[in-house]
Amino acid sequence: MQPTFRAAVARRTGLKPATVTGIVNDLLAQQILSEAPAAIPSGNGELGARWGRPPLMLQVNADAKRIVAIDLEPDRIRVAVTDLLANVLNYQEQAIDRFSEPDVIIKTMLKLAGRAMEDVDRAQLQGVGVSLPGLVDQKAGVLISSTNLPRWRDVPIRDILHKALGVSVQVERSIHLAAIYEKWSDPNHAHRTTLMLTLRTGVGISIMHHGHLLTGRRGFAGEIGHTVVDLNGKPCECGGKGCLETFVSAPAIVARATEMIHQGKCQALVAAMRGKSDLRPELIYKLAKRGDRDCAQIVKEIGKYLGIAIGNMINLFAPDEVVICGSIDMVEALFLQAVREQVEKSALPRSREGLTIRLAREKDRLPLLGAAVLVAEEMFELPSLQHAREVTEDKATVSASQA
Ligand SMILES: [Zn+2]
Repeated sequence: MQPTFRAAVARRTGLKPATVTGIVNDLLAQQILSEAPAAIPSGNGELGARWGRPPLMLQVNADAKRIVAIDLEPDRIRVAVTDLLANVLNYQEQAIDRFSEPDVIIKTMLKLAGRAMEDVDRAQLQGVGVSLPGLVDQKAGVLISSTNLPRWRDVPIRDILHKALGVSVQVERSIHLAAIYEKWSDPNHAHRTTLMLTLRTGVGISIMHHGHLLTGRRGFAGEIGHTVVDLNGKPCECGGKGCLETFVSAPAIVARATEMIHQGKCQALVAAMRGKSDLRPELIYKLAKRGDRDCAQIVKEIGKYLGIAIGNMINLFAPDEVVICGSIDMVEALFLQAVREQVEKSALPRSREGLTIRLAREKDRLPLLGAAVLVAEEMFELPSLQHAREVTEDKATVSASQA
């Protein structure tokens, strides 16, 4: 959300300038937007002389509202208070057991959200945005199922949180929110095809084409974790066999390390584990970064399997860039090298021409920040704007079907 001109808003939304003026004035009156003279680059005398008085630019008044963002991951809950530009003002997290009953996990969510809301003026609180793993019915606010949260089936999480917290709540899938945040923070997405791969407890992918998110029927697209990479592979939590997740999910990484420990390998990991109750992938990444060969091998294997899946996606979508989000940033160089090597083998040269593969700037906080953006964006979807958009889209559909 960069400062922008009124004319640019009209151009981007396809609204008439008079409609934009009406909406903008409304947001200015609410102090959600402010207007300030545009900065003319110093030394650009010619431009300054041509413009005379600098034109006014619109910008979002970040402090006008507060948002509570919640990221439910199968192994932890993250909660942040943010401003309207998704800047984090306050952050807390707590580990959870993914095999717990939903009401136990929801209780922890409510405790953390309640604590976050204590410091926020109620009148200033715009709402709560929630990132969920697995399949989500966004309109109904229901977490349909999540392979990594096996006890969650059709949980009406939005209504439960709304009732308990007394504020408006919005929910969305974590993989889509990761893409929503990237889109919000980088205007260049309007001209690109981007694959956003989210590697956390599970793995999912979002496809963005020229600023549009491809979510598939009912928002179910993106289950790359359950594409088969080994026909004779291990059973997957989804009920299938040899899925990508049986190689790269957090439980799979831990299982691989445990297997290596039983073979007498990963001695540094055994030593580092002393006094710790559970083994987490982060510990393996940490040791790999310090140069432990066995842990580095595990990281390379994850990179290789992801590289196979990413290579397939590159052949299908020929993207401009692949962005990976996850806690893997601890071993960025090692991991990306393994992914890139495999992509060179798996993807066709033409499909990967000029392609960038990189880690997301916000690492594994992307879905959390995307949950804040979800709420912030809703503020700018005023009824009049929504209506105008629908009209524009209808017109576009008509002209497309007539063509
Ligand atoms: Zn599976």
